[in-house]
Amino acid sequence: MLRPEPLEDPQNKKNTSGTCGLGCCGCRAALPEQQKIPYATPSSVDTAGNSYEAGQANPSHIENSSYRLTGLSCADCAAKLHHKLGELPGIISVQLNFGTAALEVRHTCPAGDIVKVVKKSGYGIEAAGQVKPVGLKGLFYQQSVILTAISGLLLGTALALSLLGIEGPVLPSLYTASILTGGYKAARSGLYALKSFSLDINFLVIVAAAGAVAIGEWSEGATVVFLFSLGNMLQDYTMEKSRNSIRALMSLAPKEAMVKRRGFTISAPIDEILPGDILLVRPGERIAMDGNVLSGCSEVDQSPVTGESLPVAKEPGDKVYAGTVNGRGFMEITVTRTSRDNTLARIISLVEEAQAQRAPSQHFVEAFARIYTPLVIAAAALTGSLPSLVFGQPFAPWFERALILLVISCPCALVISTPVSIVAAISSAARKGVLIKGGAYLEEAGSLKVVAFDKTGTLTTGRPEIKEIFTAPGYTREKLVGIAAAIESCSEHPLAQAIMRLAKERGFDIPQCSAFRSHPGQGATAEIGGVTYLAGNHRLFQGLEIPPLLAQNLYELEEEGKTPVIIGTDSEVIGILAAAESLRDNAANTVKELRQAGIERIVMLTGDNPGAAASAASSLSVDEVHAGLLPEDKLQVVNSLMTQYGKLAMVGDGINDAPSLAAATVGIAMGPTGTDTALETADIALMAGELARIPYIIRLGRSTINIIRQNIAFSVLVKAIFIALTFAGITNLWMAVFADTGAALLVILNGMRLLQADQNKFRSSVA
Ligand code: ADP
Ligand code: MG
Repeated sequence: MLRPEPLEDPQNKKNTSGTCGLGCCGCRAALPEQQKIPYATPSSVDTAGNSYEAGQANPSHIENSSYRLTGLSCADCAAKLHHKLGELPGIISVQLNFGTAALEVRHTCPAGDIVKVVKKSGYGIEAAGQVKPVGLKGLFYQQSVILTAISGLLLGTALALSLLGIEGPVLPSLYTASILTGGYKAARSGLYALKSFSLDINFLVIVAAAGAVAIGEWSEGATVVFLFSLGNMLQDYTMEKSRNSIRALMSLAPKEAMVKRRGFTISAPIDEILPGDILLVRPGERIAMDGNVLSGCSEVDQSPVTGESLPVAKEPGDKVYAGTVNGRGFMEITVTRTSRDNTLARIISLVEEAQAQRAPSQHFVEAFARIYTPLVIAAAALTGSLPSLVFGQPFAPWFERALILLVISCPCALVISTPVSIVAAISSAARKGVLIKGGAYLEEAGSLKVVAFDKTGTLTTGRPEIKEIFTAPGYTREKLVGIAAAIESCSEHPLAQAIMRLAKERGFDIPQCSAFRSHPGQGATAEIGGVTYLAGNHRLFQGLEIPPLLAQNLYELEEEGKTPVIIGTDSEVIGILAAAESLRDNAANTVKELRQAGIERIVMLTGDNPGAAASAASSLSVDEVHAGLLPEDKLQVVNSLMTQYGKLAMVGDGINDAPSLAAATVGIAMGPTGTDTALETADIALMAGELARIPYIIRLGRSTINIIRQNIAFSVLVKAIFIALTFAGITNLWMAVFADTGAALLVILNGMRLLQADQNKFRSSVA
């Protein structure tokens, strides 16, 4: 029989900052009124649950608001905006992430104040979750694009006219018009930034253009403004594209679906479909909601959620996910989550939260930028004044050099270099069913030395089968298995499920039980008819005499590599169930690929007996096997391996792995077959439980590190070359702008390579 899944969301327990921790969408609907959490609303909900519209002050309450900005293409400007928002009265904390363009604010001032500051700085702002991906088509309607195009046309006409030898007042007026249209946005943001005494790149470019005009270099001034505006537009477009690559997943779920209500079949918008509704899914249709199959069988392509493109068979009782594609069967599905709270929505908010975290290499970049910009601006001031004032040099050429230095004082490309790569890599991984919870783990994954695997459920299929049953005198098989199943009915351990399956297949009676307790790494206990029964390994039965015959069986089973589950009370052993399970198909291959990827040591850690461990290890060629471990023993082994070899990844699935997942440099949890505790503790989660993704993660980590390094080196080099060229007097203003925005664009494009990274290599590794 189906056991209805609890609707309560285990992830909500993680709630830390007043939001649900995942920033996920549906919590509002799923939680009682007073716990409602602000999300995706332009209005806000304070911690007491009162909601009020933007612009309406509520000074006694703290609000959390989440927004998504548009037009945020310059990382340095993002930092300035961040600073500005932080200084607004009534702001408690601000988190502005350039990579995702996400803005999180805790505030007591009206939300309208925040919106005003953002808009005045020249960016678009919308409530999180409402921004649609910008397509090429939408781009043509944007103000900045229209202005840039007009500016370019005017500049082109002026340049053409001057080439034809036409002179007179028409040229300066065309150039002026070009500067005004192309520079409007930059001037607006630049002047606004100046009000708070910060020199952002917008302002510096406007100063440079004005300076060029002042020394009579009209065409140069106009070119500078046009190129800057064009570069910004392109950066904006590419950044939005990489930001949206994950958000686009969201649009996969249909907007409407067929549901059965009171005997009628109606088509309802997904927002109105609630847990408990019966959803009808026709062949070939995309599934609209998360739920459990009620009737019907089919196979489902779950790649949007798990990244696994092989269809998965579904039968009554199985889980299905919104956004996945039904195969040839017809199914009725009991909805378990609202559309805002479904797995896909959680994946997306989890990924966006991850993308918003600072990666280690960003600290270097930020430290560098803090010194670099003031230094170059100071150099510009000296270059503009000293040579002509002190050394009697001509003013104009040195003044132009000073302007060039102003333009290249913005570390734009450098500041973009890390976040853009991290965002791309995390999105790319998410689309393959690998949730990486922050750039830091990605970078760590690139420099791993040791990979430690849990055995049961990780290297093995997690679907053991009971192969043999041994009973003590006075017990029938039915009675023994019934007791075992009663204890295990509350456990989520793979062995427990094997026992449940056996009892159901044979149609054995399962008695009622109470006072269930799980003993990680040992087994479980429960009360049946007032007696406490135990099911587990010999450690659970310590101090208890095992009848010689059963002891002999136990010994032989372990020798054969099987896992015995001993059943008994605290005074006697009543039988043994022997389980065996096979390795995952790609376990051996994964170990091989990890070695090829340069992992020095591969270790197996298991709570199972040494016999079962050795039998699994023999076909895998792992370097070390540790068997019979309790959770704390696993932790100890992980710690000592880390001191011995350096960075270690722990791959695990169960509750017993949680401590070692948390302690490892990188904790990798196996997906939906894994337990929630493991998923929460892990740094990386494999949605499809696909082992072959682990070498992929390592390669992705390495590519990310490489691309970040390339980006940093490239942007620093371009700056260095330009500074040298400027002093040599070889370059000019528009070339500086070209190099500046061009470098930023190249850095973005280089980072975006990670969106495609490793596709082919990955395919060959699963094939
Ligand atoms: P692994 O470390 O290989 O994933 P576990 O730590 O989950 O294995 O389990 C270790 C051992 O503890 C199992 O091999 C089994 O003997 C025993 N055990 C754990 N949970 C249960 C359970 N619910 N029922 C029976 N035995 C259990
Ligand atoms: Mg396990």
